[in-house]
Amino acid sequence: MKTKKSQKLYSKAIKIMPGGVNSPVRAFKAVGGNPIFISKAKGSKIYDVDGNIFIDYVLSWGPLILGHAPKEIVKALKKAVEKGTSYGAPTKLEIELAELVKKAFPSMEKIRMVNSGTEATMSAIRVARGFTGRAKVIKFEGCYHGHVDGLLVAAGSGGETFGIPDSLGVPKTYASETIVLPFNDKEALKSTIEKNWRDIACVIVEPVVGNMGCILPKEDFLEILRAETQKYGIVLIFDEVMTGFRVSFGGAQSYYGITPDLTCLGKVIGGGLPVGAYGGKKEIMQMVAPDGGVYQAGTLSGNPLAMTAGIETLKILKKGSTYKKLEEIMRALEEGLKDAAKRADVKVKFYRAGTMFCTYFTETEVIDAKTARTADLEKYKKFFWKMLEKGIYLAPSQFEAGFISLSHSKKDIEKTVQAAYNTFKEL
Ligand SMILES: *Cc1c(COP(=O)(O)O)cnc(C)c1O
Repeated sequence: MKTKKSQKLYSKAIKIMPGGVNSPVRAFKAVGGNPIFISKAKGSKIYDVDGNIFIDYVLSWGPLILGHAPKEIVKALKKAVEKGTSYGAPTKLEIELAELVKKAFPSMEKIRMVNSGTEATMSAIRVARGFTGRAKVIKFEGCYHGHVDGLLVAAGSGGETFGIPDSLGVPKTYASETIVLPFNDKEALKSTIEKNWRDIACVIVEPVVGNMGCILPKEDFLEILRAETQKYGIVLIFDEVMTGFRVSFGGAQSYYGITPDLTCLGKVIGGGLPVGAYGGKKEIMQMVAPDGGVYQAGTLSGNPLAMTAGIETLKILKKGSTYKKLEEIMRALEEGLKDAAKRADVKVKFYRAGTMFCTYFTETEVIDAKTARTADLEKYKKFFWKMLEKGIYLAPSQFEAGFISLSHSKKDIEKTVQAAYNTFKEL
């Protein structure tokens, strides 16, 4: 694998940007070595500046469920850009995307568009606090909800990767409003809520955790979460920024049949452009300005280009055959990887929910942050680089989910499984 041009760009980048990147996990710190620089992408493939081609299972960390640069979206964006890139005034496109989102997520009776998943979770929490008049937030260890001050506590993703779950610069007083519980622990949840409910505004959760790999909720965990929050007037926020349109068309809430009060979306709904959204029950969303007293705004929110990419993406996802096809691709990869590990006699745990997945190098059943940490990070490191050399681009950290897209072909999957088998053998 040639990396000369990437290395050169990296040495320039580190002079002008922290770590040479604009988002920490891109820096490859968790797997050692330096990042590769991308020049273009199409379908399931990304191309780097040295001429290497990779089958991509990062997909911009989740958004690109159709693959890179799908022709429908490229065409719609070209047309849209001619009409101007932002107006700071309402458009029909915003209604159209909101309606498409609501079709998939009926619990989102009213929706506000923002520019990122972080903005969505930050705003949803503010609304929950405004609505309840309470301050405290319950989150789960290893769940990542963007880089919101009060939520950067035991936050998975980059934090987990670097072993610094708490960020500098977050005042203790902010973090002290956050209660952290282990995921999948219903007893801890019940006793904490019963003791502290008078102060608790909301519980925020990734219903399938994608920022510690991929961790599924135990059979009745989400049900109990719903029942307990309902009982004590606590707002239940599903952070479906990653799981939305990934676990199923209607996200984890549709798949598990649990209706939260508020939902946060991002990633897929922007079709590769910067979008987030939050929404939920009418009486809660009525708190949002200008209807209510919870302030939240955005110069570029509801941006026409981002709305266009989102609309075109959801239109394709809405077709009956799309998820059937995604399921076939995902199942082929799942079965192939499991089989490859078995044949090579490498112990791994593989989990997936819809089109997101993780292969943990551990023999322990992964159900929360503690069990996720049993994974052999040195092994993952080797696995990552050997796969990269074979043309397979995986997340540069054990604690990130992988994704497939509609454009991953049978051939892509076969090549990936073969590479995985050979790599497992080499470990
Ligand atoms: C990615 C992610 C976020 C943050 O979204 P950004 O667009 O990166 O701000 C929040 N929550 C979850 C579950 C995510 O996966």
